[in-house]
Amino acid sequence: MRLVQETPYRFRLDRTGPMRVPGVVFASATLLLEDEALRQVANVATLPGIVRASYGMPDLHWGYGFPIGGVAATDVEQGGVVSPGGVGFDISCGVRLLASDTRRDGLPLHRLMDLLGDTVPRGAATGALWTLSGRPELEAILRDGARHAVGQGRGVPRDLERCEDFGALPGADPAQVGARAMERGLGQVGSLGSGNHFLELQTVEQVYDEAVAAAFGLRAGQVCVMIHCGSRGLGHQICTDHVRAMDKAMAGYGIDVPDRQLACAPVESPEGRAYLGAMAAAANYGRANRQALGQAARDAFSSIAGARLDLVYDVSHNLAKIEEHDGRLLCVHRKGATLALPPGHPGLPGDLRLVGQPVLIPGTMGTASYVLAGVAGGEAFHSTCHGAGRTQSRHQAARAISGKELRARLESRGIAVRGLGWRGLAEEAPSAYKDVDAVVAASEGAGLCRRVARLVPIGVVKG
Ligand code: 5GP
Ligand code: MN
Ligand code: MN
Repeated sequence: MRLVQETPYRFRLDRTGPMRVPGVVFASATLLLEDEALRQVANVATLPGIVRASYGMPDLHWGYGFPIGGVAATDVEQGGVVSPGGVGFDISCGVRLLASDTRRDGLPLHRLMDLLGDTVPRGAATGALWTLSGRPELEAILRDGARHAVGQGRGVPRDLERCEDFGALPGADPAQVGARAMERGLGQVGSLGSGNHFLELQTVEQVYDEAVAAAFGLRAGQVCVMIHCGSRGLGHQICTDHVRAMDKAMAGYGIDVPDRQLACAPVESPEGRAYLGAMAAAANYGRANRQALGQAARDAFSSIAGARLDLVYDVSHNLAKIEEHDGRLLCVHRKGATLALPPGHPGLPGDLRLVGQPVLIPGTMGTASYVLAGVAGGEAFHSTCHGAGRTQSRHQAARAISGKELRARLESRGIAVRGLGWRGLAEEAPSAYKDVDAVVAASEGAGLCRRVARLVPIGVVKG
């Protein structure tokens, strides 16, 4: 794939063959870009109704159909399509950050980590913090997301001000969620899942903008809790079911895609609407899940350390949203990409309106994570990166280092590790990811966001 460098942080992939728009990849010359991921950026550019460009963020890497770190918008009124592969299997996977009123000195870190390690459900098996009263309660979660959790005492009303879409994505249609997905969803509200999902204690190591950090509730030295997880088996099953339905329906709409994993249907079709209704339900499930886990972290901080946790923000980085841009109604897919609204945007709560949307970027359990803010003039429909991005497969990562050795290294640096299995830990080794400092520098350099604070890990509960 031939990339043309336009500026230090912007590369263009010219239109060839069936591409309807060019590709645009934000990166720096030193960030590794896989050929397969670039090929996927080009494939996405062929989707019916796509506008402007098929975008890649600096953490771009290979994914199912669409690359992870990909952003693509289609024109709803011009036959634009929605594709489940453009959202991913973990619908509404995202990040929640809570800030404590305490510093690391004097914090009983190991007792706190023991309690969190014992109480936070994780791994592929079931087990959840929240035992639902039955199917009607699951439906309430699918419709109302974090709002339902707060209504049930799992959080405080202010939390909802600090959630994207105020805790619930509109348009959820539980009737479009299949029986198997419902079944899988019943027993997993309040659980991390496996692999790259985690609950991490971090300290704010550096603040780049005091005023914006203060508006977010952050200051240097403070202990924070970062939670990364999504919609568990329910979201996964919804993606599987709707990919299958669209794969069957595509030919009837005259849609031809270069890769079957790009299965899609017009937004304004029965299949498109069904997927978006189910996807919004899964998004709300993911938000309720993070709300429940955040509340468990609060309980642990309160009982072990007598400390408080306030929600900084909660973002999704796997979602398609219907948004208006330049007077057009677009279906914006963000897969491994984060919405970053600029200052002044009406989607922001009053106290964040002037500073822009908080963006939460996990790095790895051994390096840094970041808090960024949206900026005016951001490209790619106000989107930015979502993490460091993998450079190695799980298999490669586990071959390069043993879980035991990795834990010893982290512990020797003062990072408390509560894992589940050695293999799972090794698969998420910091060396399996890009350099998050470089990814964030490229995102800022490309004008997509700006840095607010850098956080470093002190304890990690791994899925
Ligand atoms: P994804 O949503 O693509 O699965 O993961 C998002 C990002 O989370 C990854 O690109 C990686 O940078 C980050 N990540 C994975 N594991 C950990 C961890 O244990 N701690 C932190 N802070 N970040 C992680
Ligand atoms: Mn994720
Ligand atoms: Mn996920």
